[in-house]
Amino acid sequence: MANAQTSAPRRGISPSESGPSGNQRANAQVAVLLPLPLSGAYHYLVPPDLDLAPGDIVRVPLGGREVAGVVWEPDAAAPAVPPEKLKTVVLRYDVPALPPVQRRFVEWVAGYTMSARGAVLRMALSVPAALDPPRPATGYRPAPGAAEHAEVKLTPARRRVLAELANGPARPLAELSRAAGVTPGVVKGLQAAGVLETVSLSNALSFAAPDPERPGPPLSPDQAAAAAALRARAGDGGFSVTLLDGVTGSGKTEVYLEAVAAALGAGRQVLVLLPEIALSAQWLERFAARFGVRPATWHSEMTMAQRRATWRAIAFGEARIVVGARSALFLPYAELGLIVVDEEHDAAYKQEDGVIYHARDMAVVRGRLGEIPVVLVSATPSLETVVNLRSGRYRGLHLAQRHGGASLPEVSLVDLRRDPPPRIEGHGQSWLSGALRTAIREALAEGEQALLFLNRRGYAPLTLCRTCGHRLQCPRCTAWLVEHRLAARLQCHHCGYVAALPESCPECGQPGTLAACGPGVERLAEEAATLFPEARRAIMASDTLPGPSAAAELLQAVQDREVDLLIGTQIVAKGHHFPYLTLVGVVDADLGLFGGDLRAAERTYQLLHQVAGRAGRAAHAGRVLIQTAEPAHPVMQALAQGARDAFLAVEAETRECAGLPPFGRLAALILSGADAPAVEAAGTALARQAPRGDGIAVLGPAPAPLAVLRGRHRRRFLVKTRRDIAPQRLIQAWLARVELPRGVRLQIDIDPYSFL
Ligand code: ADP
Ligand code: ZN
Repeated sequence: MANAQTSAPRRGISPSESGPSGNQRANAQVAVLLPLPLSGAYHYLVPPDLDLAPGDIVRVPLGGREVAGVVWEPDAAAPAVPPEKLKTVVLRYDVPALPPVQRRFVEWVAGYTMSARGAVLRMALSVPAALDPPRPATGYRPAPGAAEHAEVKLTPARRRVLAELANGPARPLAELSRAAGVTPGVVKGLQAAGVLETVSLSNALSFAAPDPERPGPPLSPDQAAAAAALRARAGDGGFSVTLLDGVTGSGKTEVYLEAVAAALGAGRQVLVLLPEIALSAQWLERFAARFGVRPATWHSEMTMAQRRATWRAIAFGEARIVVGARSALFLPYAELGLIVVDEEHDAAYKQEDGVIYHARDMAVVRGRLGEIPVVLVSATPSLETVVNLRSGRYRGLHLAQRHGGASLPEVSLVDLRRDPPPRIEGHGQSWLSGALRTAIREALAEGEQALLFLNRRGYAPLTLCRTCGHRLQCPRCTAWLVEHRLAARLQCHHCGYVAALPESCPECGQPGTLAACGPGVERLAEEAATLFPEARRAIMASDTLPGPSAAAELLQAVQDREVDLLIGTQIVAKGHHFPYLTLVGVVDADLGLFGGDLRAAERTYQLLHQVAGRAGRAAHAGRVLIQTAEPAHPVMQALAQGARDAFLAVEAETRECAGLPPFGRLAALILSGADAPAVEAAGTALARQAPRGDGIAVLGPAPAPLAVLRGRHRRRFLVKTRRDIAPQRLIQAWLARVELPRGVRLQIDIDPYSFL
C-alpha cells in the first residue's frame, strides 16, 4: 500500500552525469513540486549560479505569479521538456531543505490517502511567509534614567504602558499597545519623550531550550518501570510503537514526559500531539513546570506572526519541542526524534476535509519512515491500536492504578425507563432523574464539585410547531436547526447557517407555537438553575467559549473551586484534572449509541469512560451516575463493571465476523454536486464499473445520511476489502474507467470514521 519513493538524495542535479560544464549547467533542469492540488512536479531551468538539490525550497514563476515549491526527485517516467518551454527558478530560500524523510512522508501520505502530492506538501509549507527572513523586530523598554524625566506628564494611558513593561522584557509595538489598551501613538510618544527606548529583539527568544536534566516528580514503582522502558526507547531512537495504557489519573503524562526528556537529552526534537490544543492550558503548565520553558505550540488559533516564527524555529531546529494539533505532524522538523500521540483514541485526530487523514496513523508512518519511536497514550485505546498490540506490532505498557492512592470512581446506571426524571412544578420537561438530583445535592452539601455531561451543544436539538408539526430545518442541509438560546439564534451544526428564531411558524403562520424539543447543555443549565439555585454553575461547550483563553479561564475557575456545578459537552471529557470534582452525571448515555457508525459502541464507551474518569482523581472518592434507557447494552454493562477488556474482546469479535476495521479495510467515496440528477447519474456510472472479486465488496451508491450538505447533493459508496487487499489500487483503476460529469465532485476517504 505504500508507494513511498526511496531514491537517494543527490546533490546538484545536472542533465549529464559527466559533471557540470558551464554549458550544460545553463541547461540544468529541476522538478519542483508545488503546494497546490497537483500530483506531478513541474520542470524549471536552474539559473547558472544556483546549485539545487532535492528538498531545496525555491521560488518559481507560475502563471502570472511566483510561488514557493520544493525541488523534488525527478520523475523517471515524465517526458523530457524542451528547455525553451521552461521557466527559470527565481531563487532558493534561505531555509533548511525539506529533509528526505519529510519528502518520503509527503509521497506516502499522498499515496495512502489518494490525494495529490502537492496538496500534502501544502500542509508542510503551510506558512509561505515563513520562508522569508523575519524583519528585524524592534522592542520597547524603559530608557535608562527614565525616572529623571519627572517633567513628562504621565496620563493613565502612559501609566498602563509603563506598568506593562515593569519587570518584563522589551516588547514589540503592536503587542505592547494591545496589552496596555492604548494606541501605538502613546508608546511612540513615550519614546519621543525619552521615557522609553527601542532595542532590537531576537526572534529566537521565544523558543528557549527546555532543560531535560531538571528532575521530574518522584514516580511510583509502576510509573518508574514504564518511564524507564519509554526512556530507553526514546533515548536509543529507532522505530517502535508503544501504547502507554493507563487508567484515568494514573499519571500517564508524567510518565511520557520522561520519554520526552530522554529524546531532548539525545539532542532530538519532540512532537506531542493533543486532540484539542485549545483546551490544554493545564498540560502546558505541567510541561513548563517539568522543563522550565513553555513548548512551541501549533494549532488553528495562532496568529500569522506566531505561525511564521514557529515554522522557522521548527525548520531551523530552534524549537526543541512542539505541542500541536494534528496538522503539526507535517511541519518540517529538522531532527524529529519522538512523537507522542496523547488520547490516541480521539476522533479529533481524523482530518475530514482537504487531505483526509488520521493523524495517529500517519504519526506511526512518520515514525517508521524517520526510524523514531512513537508513543500512543490512552486510558481507552482504540480497537485498531489494541489489535496491533495483540499481534505484536506494538508494544504495551500498563498503569493499573491511579496516582497517589486515589481509587477509580464507582459507576452506577440509572434506568431512565424505571426512574424517569420527575416533573418540576412550573418548569417544562426535565432531564435529571431523582437519583442524580440526590447525588448532586450530596456532593454540593459536601462542598465538592459535580459535572453534568450531555454531548449536545445549544438549547434544543429540534424546534417544532405545536400546531402543524413543522420542524425547522437548515435550508442548505439535511439537518434540523439547533436553537442556541444564549446567542439568541438557530444554527446548523453542519454548515454554520444561522437565523433568528421566528416569531411564528414559517409553515402555518401561527404565532407563538414553536416549541423546543429535547435538551442541549443550555437547557440542562436552566433545569440546574431551578433545582440548585445556590450552586455556582458554568456551561462548557465549544460555542460558549469564544477562544482558548476563555477555555483556560473557565478550567482555571473550576480548578480554583469557583464553580460548583459544571455542565458540559465532550470538551469536558478531555484530560482535565479537577481535584475536588467527585460526581459525574451522564445525562443521556444513549446519544451516540445508534446510527450507522461501526464505531458507535466503541466511541460511546471511550467518551463515557473518559468523562467518568474526571471524578475523584485526588483525595476524595468519585461517583458516576449514567442515565440510560438501555441499561442492558454491552457498553453500559462494561462501564458499570469496569470491564474494558471484556468489552473490547466482544467488540473485536463482532468486527472480525463482519470483516470490519481493523480486520478488514474500508474506503468511502462521496459524490456531491449542486445538481441532484447529475450526482445520481455519476453514481450509476460508477456503480456499473465497480470493482469485483474475492474479498471485495462495494456498497452503494446510497444517498448519504446527510443527503444534502451546503446545498450539495451527496451519494456514498463504501468499498470494503479484506485486510490484505489495498483499496487504493482498486479505486484508482475503477476511477480510470469512469468519467465523472462536470460539477460532480468526488471525495475519497480511506479508513472513514464519519459515515454521514
Ligand atoms: P492521566 O493522564 O493518566 O489521566 P495525569 O498524568 O493527568 O493522569 O496525572 C493525574 C494527576 O496526578 C496530575 O495532577 C499529575 O500531576 C499527578 N501525578 C501523577 N503522577 C505523579 C507523580 N509521580 N508525582 C506527583 N504527581 C503526580
Ligand atoms: Zn446547514
